[in-house]
Amino acid sequence: MKKMFCIGYKCTLCGKEFPYNGKMLTCPECGEKGILDIQFDYQGIKSALTREKLAANKNFSMFRYAPLLPLRNTDFGRYLRVGYTPLYKANLIHSELGLDSVYIKDDGHNPTGSLKDRASAVAVAHAIENDYTTIACSSTGNAASSCAGNAARMGIKSVIFVPQRAPEGKLAQLLVYGAKVVSVAGDYRATFELSRDAIAKYGWYNRNAGINPVMTEGKKTVALEIAEQLDWNVTDWVAVSVGDGCTVGGIYNGFRDLKEIGLIDRVPKILGVQSLGCCPFVTAATGDGKLVPAEENTLADSIAVGIPRNPVKALRAIRESHGAWIAVSDNDILEGMKLLGRTEGVFSEPAAASVTAGVKQAVQDGIIKKSESVTIISTGSGLKDVKNALKAVTRPVPCEPTIEALEASGIL
Ligand SMILES: *Cc1c(COP(=O)(O)O)cnc(C)c1O
Ligand SMILES: [Zn+2]
Repeated sequence: MKKMFCIGYKCTLCGKEFPYNGKMLTCPECGEKGILDIQFDYQGIKSALTREKLAANKNFSMFRYAPLLPLRNTDFGRYLRVGYTPLYKANLIHSELGLDSVYIKDDGHNPTGSLKDRASAVAVAHAIENDYTTIACSSTGNAASSCAGNAARMGIKSVIFVPQRAPEGKLAQLLVYGAKVVSVAGDYRATFELSRDAIAKYGWYNRNAGINPVMTEGKKTVALEIAEQLDWNVTDWVAVSVGDGCTVGGIYNGFRDLKEIGLIDRVPKILGVQSLGCCPFVTAATGDGKLVPAEENTLADSIAVGIPRNPVKALRAIRESHGAWIAVSDNDILEGMKLLGRTEGVFSEPAAASVTAGVKQAVQDGIIKKSESVTIISTGSGLKDVKNALKAVTRPVPCEPTIEALEASGIL
């Protein structure tokens, strides 16, 4: 058993604090909206997680940051290898974006193909530590497939609620990983509500990201990795797409933790990217700050969340980091997908490609300056949603199997 550095919970709404018991989901006073933050003993972590210890650590997965995770277990060989995904210095894309320096964090390299593995690995571990035999979630796709994959590897059952519009690649993953899959006739909201009621009724472990505070802590490991891979000199900006808001909230928490323990000296500005067809955070930020339910009208299914479940952490991430919100059209997303693929060889699903489009827009709008460095997080692999990717590109040129036909085809 590893030493635990979690000391408590703090409600993000009313500020009330509770001692850490490894089990709390939401604030008993505020109910479902009272999302909790986990609090850490930063003094203790300071000596457990030093640059030297990390440099000598041979665990090349997110579990190298175990002191900053809400887990007791240390048997990490039993897990899928989540995290420690590549961070590339851009060869070409920075000049096309009008920037001096760009990095790309390719989280499509996780075992089930998205950043969601970081949350699911922690959730499954946490479920097992708390003696659950079944884990459940509702999801637009990636949370589900990562939950199912990590649960399969760790030997517990998964029950997954998906809205009908989930792309087939993601559905296929769930089914192959052996999950019980419930395809709900409705939107994400209806799916979420059914899962919530079923979880309450059957007593399963709740992997719903908006509610469960360990989820943000898993996702924050992407920030820890970016900082370590940049040798603790973080870029001026880190850009990521936003649906429920759990990922962006986690990224902020990760950088904040590193600053608290003295491994970095500043938190990067965070650019939160949404799709114009579903951008409740952008609308709130440019209006009176109030979130109103939005339509879910975008091909970027992973960020098509009309009623975000983690608004407090998401809004805080952008505000406290002095970052910005931006929205891009579906067409910009497809262009961003092609740009990243063509210039750097990284294939993103639409929600991930929105980040490239968002950075481009933010440069054009003067939000990001040419001299500022930027990390683009590609949150999921393009192979997850081939149907939409094919909308971005032209069809291959048909050709008879002769050199003459090849020359006549015009492709060369
Ligand atoms: C879930 C997801 C996001 C957004 O994360 P939230 O926590 O919902 O804000 C972005 N990109 C991809 C690929 C995702 O799966
Ligand atoms: Zn509260």
